[in-house]
Amino acid sequence: MMSTAGTQTASPNERCFETAARGGRAARIAIVGGGPGGLTLARILHLNGFATTVFEQESDASARTQGGSLDLHPDGGQLALARAGLLEAFLQYARHEDQGMRAMEPTGKVLFDRVDAHGGDRPEIDRKLLRDLLLQSLPEGMVRWDRRLASVVPVDGGYTLRFENGAQETFDLVVGADGAWSRVRPLLSAVRPAYTGLTFIEIGIDDIDERYPALAATVGHGMLSVKDGERRLLAQRNGNGHVRIYVSLRLDEPELVDRHIDLTSPAAARRDLLQRFEGWSPQFLDLIRVCNDEIVARPIYALPADFVWSGRPGVTLIGDAAHVMSPAGGHGVNMAMLDAAELARHLVGNASADEAVHGYETEMFARIAPLAAEVARGWENHFKR
Ligand SMILES: Cc1cc2nc3c(=O)[nH]c(=O)nc-3n(C[C@H](O)[C@H](O)[C@H](O)COP(=O)(O)OP(=O)(O)OC[C@H]3O[C@@H](n4cnc5c(N)ncnc54)[C@H](O)[C@@H]3O)c2cc1C
Repeated sequence: MMSTAGTQTASPNERCFETAARGGRAARIAIVGGGPGGLTLARILHLNGFATTVFEQESDASARTQGGSLDLHPDGGQLALARAGLLEAFLQYARHEDQGMRAMEPTGKVLFDRVDAHGGDRPEIDRKLLRDLLLQSLPEGMVRWDRRLASVVPVDGGYTLRFENGAQETFDLVVGADGAWSRVRPLLSAVRPAYTGLTFIEIGIDDIDERYPALAATVGHGMLSVKDGERRLLAQRNGNGHVRIYVSLRLDEPELVDRHIDLTSPAAARRDLLQRFEGWSPQFLDLIRVCNDEIVARPIYALPADFVWSGRPGVTLIGDAAHVMSPAGGHGVNMAMLDAAELARHLVGNASADEAVHGYETEMFARIAPLAAEVARGWENHFKR
C-alpha cells in the first residue's frame, strides 16, 4: 500500500458556491470518469472542502491494467499534483532514471541517445501507480465504481445522470472527465473525435532485465524509437521491468486491422508483425518475437485542434473529453490534470459555479488550441508516408 498525503482533508460541505438553481443548499457536484483528470479534480476540491461524487465505469481499482508509463511535466501533471498535496508522494514513486530517449535506424545504427539518468525534470510513473496515488488520497466512498454513464438529461434545477445499471441521480454541476468517448460531451457539442489514420498495435515484454538483458540494453532507460518510412516501432520502459511496445500501422479504417494483423491468435499476430519488419536488425525483431500474449489494437483518434463549445450552465469537460489528441509529445495526461487543477482553482475562488466554469473554459480553450494544432502537425510529420 502506498502512503499518500490522504490525511490532509477538510470535511465535506464546509464549502459551497452558488448556482442559479441551487437555492441555498450545497451544490451537488458529479465528476464522470475516475481517470487522472477526474481524480485530480476530486482530490483538489476535497482538499478545499467541496464534496463531489466520482462515477467510474470500471468495477474496482484493479479492473484493468491501466496502460503505460506517463511522464509528468513540471507545468502540467506535477503542478496539478502540487496543488493536490501529492507532489512529494509522486516524486518518491516516480522513475527519475527512465527519462532517456534513443532513436535508431532499422540497421541498429544509433541516431541519437539522450541519457537523462536522474537529470530530467519529467520523471515517469506507471499509470496504475498514479491512479492509486490519487485514489488513496480520497475519502472512502467518494468514487462510485461500476457506474457506467449511459446519458445525461437536463432536468429542472440540474442534470440527471442515467447509468447503464438503471441507477440515476441528479446534480447541479456535472464535469465530464470520461475520456475520448465522453457521454457528457453531447450536452455541449455534436462533434466527435476523428480517426487520425494510424493504429498502434500494442505489445509488451515482462521482466525484460531478467529474461532478455540484451533486449533491455537495446531499449535503454526511457523511450526507443525506430523508424523506416511508414514502418515504426516505439518501445517504452515501464516500471517493474516491463517494456511496452507500439507498432504503428497506417490503416484507412481502424476496423480493418484484422486484414493486416490476425489478433485472434498471439502466435499469428507475432508472425504478421514480424513480416512487416522484414529486413530489420534482429534486436528489433526479437522485441516482437518474445512479446507476451496480450496484443491489442489502439486506433488513435483526436478532436479538431480548434474544438470549443458554447458554455452551458452546470456542465463542463476536462481532459480527453474536452480535447483528446494523439499521444505525440505526451501532453494528454498533463493537460487532463492541469485542466482539473485549473477548474478547481476557478471553483474554489468563485462564488458562482457558472462564472467559475466560464473562466476555466475561456482559459482552457486558449491554452489547448495552439498545443493541439502543434501535436496534430507533429503527429502527421512523424508518421507521414
Ligand atoms: C496508445 C496511447 C498512448 C498514450 N500515451 C501517453 C503518454 O505517454 N503520455 C500522455 O500524457 N498521454 C498519453 N496518452 C493519452 C492519455 O492516455 C490521455 O490523454 C489521458 O489518460 C487523459 O486522461 P483523462 O482523465 O481525461 O481520461 P481517461 O484517462 O481516458 O480516463 C477516463 C475515465 O473515465 C472512465 N469512463 C469512460 N466512459 C465512462 C462512462 N460512460 N461512465 C463512467 N466512466 C467512464 C474510464 O473508465 C476512465 O477511467 C496515450 C493515449 C493512447 C491511446
